[in-house]
Amino acid sequence: MSLKIHNTLSRSKEPFVPLKDNEVLMYTCGPTVYNFIHIGNARTFVMSDVIRRYLEYSGYRVKYVMNITDIDDRIIAEANKKGLEFAEVNQLYTEAFFEDIAGMGIKMPDAVPRVTEHVDEIINMIQTLILKGFAYESEGSVYYDVSKFKGYGKLSGKKTEDLISGSRVDVDERKKNPLDFVLWKASKPGEPEWDSLWGKGRPGWHIECSAMCLHHLGDRVDIHCGGADLVFPHHENEIAQSEAATGQPFAKYWVHFGFLNVDNEKMSKSLGNFWLARDVLKRFRPEVIRIFFMQKHYASPLNYSEENLRDVETAHKRLEATFNRLVQVLDLKESLGGSLGTDTILPELEKLSSDLDRWQAEFNEAMNDDFNTAAALSKVFELFGSLGKIVSIKKLNDFSVYVLKRAHDQILEWNEILGFLNLSKPEGISKKYEQIMGVLLDLRSELRKRKEWALSDQIRDGLLAIGISIEDTPEGTTWKIK
Ligand SMILES: [Zn+2]
Repeated sequence: MSLKIHNTLSRSKEPFVPLKDNEVLMYTCGPTVYNFIHIGNARTFVMSDVIRRYLEYSGYRVKYVMNITDIDDRIIAEANKKGLEFAEVNQLYTEAFFEDIAGMGIKMPDAVPRVTEHVDEIINMIQTLILKGFAYESEGSVYYDVSKFKGYGKLSGKKTEDLISGSRVDVDERKKNPLDFVLWKASKPGEPEWDSLWGKGRPGWHIECSAMCLHHLGDRVDIHCGGADLVFPHHENEIAQSEAATGQPFAKYWVHFGFLNVDNEKMSKSLGNFWLARDVLKRFRPEVIRIFFMQKHYASPLNYSEENLRDVETAHKRLEATFNRLVQVLDLKESLGGSLGTDTILPELEKLSSDLDRWQAEFNEAMNDDFNTAAALSKVFELFGSLGKIVSIKKLNDFSVYVLKRAHDQILEWNEILGFLNLSKPEGISKKYEQIMGVLLDLRSELRKRKEWALSDQIRDGLLAIGISIEDTPEGTTWKIK
């Protein structure tokens, strides 16, 4: 079965056919950096990451772009509240965002463009829309003329007549039509501003994504992702802007991630059930959080609760223990091999061998069915369930080791897509080790410069006592574990 994706645009599951042979151009609406990302945002970014990884595993060359909205009213408000510069708030939360996505085991997108670095492209796109008759300037601001775009509402299924009658009376005199939305905001005192053909101002939110998507991926993209709350108006407006500017259909597949509730209620600061991704990461391992997200289809609503996470944590501990035991068994195969007769075939291993083929097919089938991670994960758990019994068998022969090695490789392959095990731990520790040694040796050389011999020797002797010897050379100080 080949890949099918539920497309919000057609409201149906469609076979996935990329615009260009085996290349996939993918875009996800990133964060607005006025705060740390919350656990609902994290779901969007983790699930986008899983989609990207599965496409890569399937053999596609994926070009993945995620923007950072670093011009926004909320950033200005946050800067004023904290008494910081606008740029300081941006810097703070942009860095925090990178930390958080790395903490969640998300692979870095190929490009992470920021609005502040694309103001020229945005201005050019607005100018194109004005020239093509889809936008108009009014008192230093520029608005998109919704009445000019015939397809408005095609993504959200909203009709312009209903939107107009349903909308509150818009008192904005500068707009021709209440549905028109701002592309360029004339500057207000004390706000960050850029020069433009229409005077000083700053871009509106919707145009940013259109301009950056077009700039980094071209006029058309294969998959455009985002939270379900972005369907209207953000994505509807992105379509209106991009298609009016290029005269071509914009995104082929629109993928939307479901809402995340906390303890069955909408997450909100006022209810006190607002969870930042980084706070959840302090309580649970990233793999546990990823499994928790993947246990539900990406488009379904998901309920966050401490209890749900604890359950996943318990299951994850079993996975980890079984995997560690498997690695141990494979490492020890020399001493274990041969203790069974070479022609003995244990029924458990014979079954595992045939199950592996079936699970692999079922895993792919699940992921091909609109990235059904819940069904795919159940294959992972089935495999671990079988392994749990087998890895305690003491006597193994070459056939057993061969089957266990296959299981091991299968786990690695699935883990590359879903990220349910952290296999980079030893490397992480040795890197930290080096960093700590770097800090110590820098400190020691500073002490030597100051002729604080007693203290610098104390560091050398202390390290020696725990088995690390250091040597001072003309090129600097080196160290080695004795
Ligand atoms: Zn966007």
